[in-house]
Amino acid sequence: MTARFDIAIIGAGVVGCAIAREFSRYRLDTILIEARSDLGDGASKGNSAVLSTASDTPYGTLECRLVTRGHERYRREAPGLGLPIVTLGGLTVAWTEAEAATLTAMQRAAVAAGFHDAVLVDAASVYARAPHLARGVVAGMWEPEEAIVDPFSTPYAYALDAVANGVELRSASPVTAARPVDSGWALSLPTGEIEAGLVINCGGLRADAVDALGGNTDFRIRARRGQFLVFDKSARPLLDAILKPVPNPASRGILITPTVFGNILVGPTAEDIDDVDDWRVTPDGIAQLERAAETLLPALLDHEVTTTYCGLRPGTEQPEYRIIPRPERRWITVGGIRSTGLSGALGIAEHVAGLAFDGMIEAARKTDIVPVRVPSLLDDGPRPWHEAARLAADAAYGEIVCHCERVTLGEIRDALASPVPPRSLKALKRRTRVMFGRCQGFFCGARVQAMFDAATTSEAAE
Ligand SMILES: Cc1cc2nc3c(=O)[nH]c(=O)nc-3n(C[C@H](O)[C@H](O)[C@H](O)COP(=O)(O)OP(=O)(O)OC[C@H]3O[C@@H](n4cnc5c(N)ncnc54)[C@H](O)[C@@H]3O)c2cc1C
Repeated sequence: MTARFDIAIIGAGVVGCAIAREFSRYRLDTILIEARSDLGDGASKGNSAVLSTASDTPYGTLECRLVTRGHERYRREAPGLGLPIVTLGGLTVAWTEAEAATLTAMQRAAVAAGFHDAVLVDAASVYARAPHLARGVVAGMWEPEEAIVDPFSTPYAYALDAVANGVELRSASPVTAARPVDSGWALSLPTGEIEAGLVINCGGLRADAVDALGGNTDFRIRARRGQFLVFDKSARPLLDAILKPVPNPASRGILITPTVFGNILVGPTAEDIDDVDDWRVTPDGIAQLERAAETLLPALLDHEVTTTYCGLRPGTEQPEYRIIPRPERRWITVGGIRSTGLSGALGIAEHVAGLAFDGMIEAARKTDIVPVRVPSLLDDGPRPWHEAARLAADAAYGEIVCHCERVTLGEIRDALASPVPPRSLKALKRRTRVMFGRCQGFFCGARVQAMFDAATTSEAAE
């Protein structure tokens, strides 16, 4: 018999996961369908991890409104999910009089748009906040609310919460066709068809292709690649703010920021590319990032680069989210969530639920919500080995497997036993930070692979 759902969400990036969590609060049968083996394995796996206040989005747009709301909700709801927020503040730095004039205009516009905490500061104040910055600063803008967050645990926490509250997550299930039926849509998955009363397309870099399955052709995805350098944790004392250049019309520029894991990140580049599967880090990209590091924070180059990565922003022809309700077709498109989706996801989820409840579905709100928490992955805790009682009760929290990131056997075991388990080694890295450190898994890789294989083999045998 064909399985039937009230809502099918296609795409388990940070946006699809947040939307699934939103609908899990209602008496609805909801399925979250993901093409890849793990959630958060598209655009959501490679970003700068800045929780933006929206002060750098175009004012008056839907994006600005939803990022503002997403930021507000993240601050309120993330701590309950166990997600860290490290508020460092954003420091935009002008190096010329022309840039200082642009910065003054930006600050006035930000205040006029409601971002009242954006203040102009002089060069001395800039150096007080970032003493290792290269000489020659003319002026700065300080935004105290800008923060950094955990980009991997965020979609995981939303998905875990959604699943704990009744959503079915089906991974490794690309939707390959959509056929209108009386009750909504029949969607083709590798295991056969399912039916849904309402389809929500959160296909990220493939949102245009997913929309086309439903006969919608409003936009084309234009990927914008962003490459990054991740500097070793030894560099962390050099910077304690999110350092941003004055943006130009083409891009917000390369920023330098600490991560919640204790590294320093330099990036992203901004390259428009045709292939949404082109995840290459290139020699040109690395050279551009090294130049930025050398120009802005020269002491960084005395430290080692731990790794590089790249992300692809799912942009479209317009610099705006493409959230399109289609009530007559029982379909909502959530596309073009380009460079602010991590910050905006909870705002987007609320907005999409509002569109769905405006005539497309009806459902009562649940009162019995199952709470979930994801483990902290921060170096400075709280990690299980910080807690004497946990350590005494379970020796696995005292056995370190990944020495670079200090990940224990107990943490890896717990991640593998999660109700939303990692389905690949890369997913296990994102859930625990194992193999993400200085040696990139040189020492622990074989043991971690064996643990992953044992967990997935025993699951298959059950
Ligand atoms: C370089 C860079 C820097 C960024 N910096 C920040 C930042 O600092 N702060 C911030 O807030 N945001 C930032 N972003 C933006 C943020 O990462 C994105 O907006 C967000 O990840 C988009 O999420 P998504 O869920 O829309 O897309 P995705 O994460 O791509 O999710 C879409 C999912 O749909 C799945 N899918 C596609 N087709 C199908 C199908 N047919 N069937 C089933 N599943 C399908 C894909 O496999 C994928 O998992 C940055 C992005 C980049 C690239």
